[in-house]
Amino acid sequence: MNAASNTLQSTPIKPRLLEAFNPATGAKIGEVCATNVDDIPAIMAGARAAQPAWEALGVKGRLKVMRKFKEVFYFKRDRINGVVMEEQGKLPFEALSQEFWPSIEMISYYLRTAEETLRPRPVFSLLLAFRYHQIEYRAHGVVLIISPWNFPFYLTVPAIMAALIAGNTVLFKPSEFAVLSGELLANMLWEAGVPRDVFQIIHGTGEVAAAAIKAKPNKIAFTGSVSTGRKVAAAAAEHLIPVTLELGGKDATIVLEDADLDRAAKGVTFGSMANAGQACASVERVYVMRSVMDSFVQKLAKEITEHVRVRTQDGSLCLAPMTTAMQLKIVESQVQEALAQGAQAVIGGRVIENGGGRFYEPTILTDLKPAMRVLTDETFGPVVSIVPVDSEEEAVQLANGTGYGLLGSVWTRDRARGLRIARQLKAGHAGVNDHIISANLPALPWGGVGETGYGRTRGKEGLLEMTTTQGISVDLVPISISEMLIWYPHTQLKQNLLMRIIAFMQGPTIKEQIKALTGKF
Ligand code: NAD
Repeated sequence: MNAASNTLQSTPIKPRLLEAFNPATGAKIGEVCATNVDDIPAIMAGARAAQPAWEALGVKGRLKVMRKFKEVFYFKRDRINGVVMEEQGKLPFEALSQEFWPSIEMISYYLRTAEETLRPRPVFSLLLAFRYHQIEYRAHGVVLIISPWNFPFYLTVPAIMAALIAGNTVLFKPSEFAVLSGELLANMLWEAGVPRDVFQIIHGTGEVAAAAIKAKPNKIAFTGSVSTGRKVAAAAAEHLIPVTLELGGKDATIVLEDADLDRAAKGVTFGSMANAGQACASVERVYVMRSVMDSFVQKLAKEITEHVRVRTQDGSLCLAPMTTAMQLKIVESQVQEALAQGAQAVIGGRVIENGGGRFYEPTILTDLKPAMRVLTDETFGPVVSIVPVDSEEEAVQLANGTGYGLLGSVWTRDRARGLRIARQLKAGHAGVNDHIISANLPALPWGGVGETGYGRTRGKEGLLEMTTTQGISVDLVPISISEMLIWYPHTQLKQNLLMRIIAFMQGPTIKEQIKALTGKF
C-alpha cells in the first residue's frame, strides 16, 4: 500500500452535521449526520435490491406492517407533538390538530381503503373474447420523497404510506430544517417492522436530494417551493423519471356582500394565521366586495388582535414563530416594500424582537397595488392582504391572476352562488365558507394547478400515483377471435369479415349496422 492511501485510511472523514434549533428561542436542540453524497449510489442499490421482496408480500402483507405503524404512531403522539413544537416552533394545539391528527387520519384511511383501491380491475372485450384481461397496479420501484419543513409529518406521511403500501421502497429526504422530525418518523417505521432497506432516510441540503435524483429513483414525490420544484422536474426529465410536484401557493378567498362577515373574519383569521401563515394553503389574498370592505376589515382586525397575540397573559405562546430566518427576511422585505409604496398596515407590519426567537406581527395590509409582491409572490408568514372588488367577475379574475393554484374559497350565505363561483377558481380545491378544508379530509386528493405543480397526494389518487398500471391478458382456451381474424395470413375473406365486424360494432346508424350483416362493402 502506498503512502497516500495510508494517509487516507488513518484520517477518518468527519461527518458533516446538520444542527436543529428551536425557532422560538434560538436554542440548539439536536443534530444529525448529513448523508455523504458518495454513499447515495449504494443506498439506492440497497433500496432497489429490497424492493421485489417487499412487493412480493402483497397488499395484505404490507398492510399488516403498516397497521403496526399506526399503533406505534398513535402511542408516540407526545413525542411527535413535542418534536414539531421544538423544531418547527409549533403551538401545542397546532401540533395536535395540524400534524398528529390529520396524519393518523391519513394512515387509517389508507389502511381502510388501500386493498380496494389496488384491487385488479377486470376489463372485457367482445373481439378479445376467450381471453381474460385485467388492469393491475404495480409498484414503481424506488420512490424518492423530498419534503419541506413546515408540516414534517402531515406532508410526508401520506406519500410514505402510499409508496410503501403500493409495494415501493422509499428513500426519504426530510428538509434540513426538520431533521429531528424525519429521524423520529424513520424510527417509528422501523420499529413497526418496515425493513431498513425498504425505508431509508438521507439527510442534507439540496445537494443530497439532487444526488439522490441522479441515482435514478423510479418515481419522485417532491413537496417544496416552485423554484426548487423546477430544478427537480428538470433533473427528473434527464432520466424521464415521473414526478409529483406539490409546490407553493398564493391562495385567494372571496368575501361576497351577502357573507356572514363574522364567520368570514373567523375563517380568514384561521386560514391566514395558522402556523403563523407558514402553509402552502394559507389565505394570503382576500378579495372583498367594496360595500362590505370596511366592516370586514374591522371584524378581521378585531378577531386577529383578540386571538393571535404572540403570548397570552399567562405567558404561553399563541402565535407560532417563523421557523426559518430566510422566510422571515422574505416576509419582512415584501411587507416593507408594500408599505413604502403606499400600502397601509391595519395591524402589524413588523418583526417582533423576542430575545433570540423569530416572530412576525400578525399583519393586515390594505391600499395595495396589483404589482406589489405581497399580491404576486408567496408570503410564508402571518400576513393577509385585502383588496376591494366591485363584482363577482372581478373577484374571480383577480383570484385567478397569479400563476399559483392550490386552494380557493368563497364566503356567502347563498351556497349555490358560492359553488358556482368556487368552480371558476383555478385551484386544486375550491370551497364555500371555509378555506383549508381538504387538508383534514384524507379522501380528498391534494395538489394544485399551474405553478403549484402537478400530480396528487392523499386520497385514492395519491395511492395510485405511487403505482404504474400493467395490463394483464391470458388465454382461457387455446384460440381467440382476434388471432383467427388478425394473425397471418391476411386474406380477402378476413378483410371482408373485419369490415363487417367494424360496421356492426361501430356503425353510427342502424342502417349501417344492418348493412354489416347483409350488404356489400
Ligand atoms: P424548498 O424548496 O426550499 O425545499 C424543499 C426540499 O427540497 C428540502 O428538503 C430541500 O432540501 C430540497 N431541495 C433543495 N434544493 C434541491 C434540489 N436542487 N434538488 C432537490 N431537492 C432540493 O422548500 P421549503 O422552504 O422547505 O418549503 C416551503 C415551500 O414548500 C413553500 O413554497 C411551500 O408553499 C411549499 N409547500 C407546498 C406544499 C403543497 O402541498 N403544495 C406543502 C408544503 C409546503
